[in-house]
Amino acid sequence: MIVIGGGVIGLAVAWRLAQRGAGVVVLERDEPGRGASHVAAGMLAPVSEADPREEPLLRLGIASAQAYPGFAAAVQEASGLDPGYLRCGTLIAARDRDEAEALERELEIRTRFGLGVRRLRPTEARRLEPALSPTLRAALEVADDHAVDPRKLTAALLVALRHLGVEVRAGTEVVELALGRRQTRRAVRLRDGRRLEGDAVVVAAGVWSAELPGLPPEARVPLRPVKGQIMRLRDPAGPRLMTRALRLPGAYLVPRGDGRYVLGATVEERGFDTTITAGAMFELLRDAVELVPGIGELVIEEVLAGLRPGTPDNAPVIGAGAVAGLHWATGHYRHGILLAPITAELTAMAVLDGTSSPLGEPFSPGRFEGRAPLRAAVRSGAR
Ligand SMILES: Cc1cc2nc3c(=O)[nH]c(=O)nc-3n(C[C@H](O)[C@H](O)[C@H](O)COP(=O)(O)OP(=O)(O)OC[C@H]3O[C@@H](n4cnc5c(N)ncnc54)[C@H](O)[C@@H]3O)c2cc1C
Repeated sequence: MIVIGGGVIGLAVAWRLAQRGAGVVVLERDEPGRGASHVAAGMLAPVSEADPREEPLLRLGIASAQAYPGFAAAVQEASGLDPGYLRCGTLIAARDRDEAEALERELEIRTRFGLGVRRLRPTEARRLEPALSPTLRAALEVADDHAVDPRKLTAALLVALRHLGVEVRAGTEVVELALGRRQTRRAVRLRDGRRLEGDAVVVAAGVWSAELPGLPPEARVPLRPVKGQIMRLRDPAGPRLMTRALRLPGAYLVPRGDGRYVLGATVEERGFDTTITAGAMFELLRDAVELVPGIGELVIEEVLAGLRPGTPDNAPVIGAGAVAGLHWATGHYRHGILLAPITAELTAMAVLDGTSSPLGEPFSPGRFEGRAPLRAAVRSGAR
């Protein structure tokens, strides 16, 4: 089996395939784990910003969040490395009446899906997290929304893959897919001119998945890059500021458990642009410092931007494509870290058993195939 892309999705898929006994090679044009997965905060928040009409996506996210403890433990056991899964829980905060109303929506969805949630008075929230400002208007405690460190996770997956004998070829760019209808073996052509054959090809190349040459128009899926800028912070005094992840409209703060935090994130439609702007950093800090003034004391370690792979409905594309032997595992937009375990499972089912499940069927590539590629619209400022 050939997996194109060594981000969190490609690595998780390759690991599941190899666990089930398949021979797998992962082709990554750069270093593995340096795409969107390198930038991601690692919140595991299936209900965040969910539209209740997107029930299949909610169900997929919830299933993946529930699979995470087992997935992280298995990765740790297989690699001997800590994948950075942190049972931190989350507080969702509101600063004014409009934001407090949005909390009620989240409360309603979580209650409907039987997920744990507790409405907190500001004093209760501040008792749990004393760094919160007195300007807090309302909060929800979501004890089961945790976080993972995506960089640690991809590092651990790489070692787990090595232990299973999976070759992960860094610096190996796929420049063409050769999946002709009459061929029984699937082939890819590499930048250095060589060809590689396998029984199946899984495209997990993040936002670049739509650009791979060699696919007939009816077999393509449309993707657009959605830029996200974040800031990585460190508390020289150690892990004392916040123990839980904090979400508020327009920003979030995710603890790593060791005094480091990720403050994110913008959502911008600017094509393949990954520049860092002063305005974005200003807005992230302004919103977060209003609720957690102590953020102002933290050291800035890194600022960076990544490209989320977005489909027209912002839901992932998982499953068999229009050409035999072609499989998609991409389009995970804002939830690729969360959705890695379930994507790996569903992709392995599709590739090895030729089956799908009711959970995965709404994400079939068939809903897009044949549609024109998405134009990278330029829209800024939205978060
Ligand atoms: C700022 C920000 C914050 C985020 N926060 C969260 C979060 O809190 N929780 C969450 O669940 N998700 C989050 N996400 C989303 C998440 O990062 C993505 O959905 C996820 O990383 C997608 O993983 P991937 O493996 O599909 O893509 P990527 O990580 O981008 O990996 C794709 C890989 O394919 C390789 N590739 C591309 N073309 C080729 C080719 N032709 N040949 C070989 N290799 C190729 C690339 O080099 C890259 O390494 C965030 C994203 C951003 C930008």
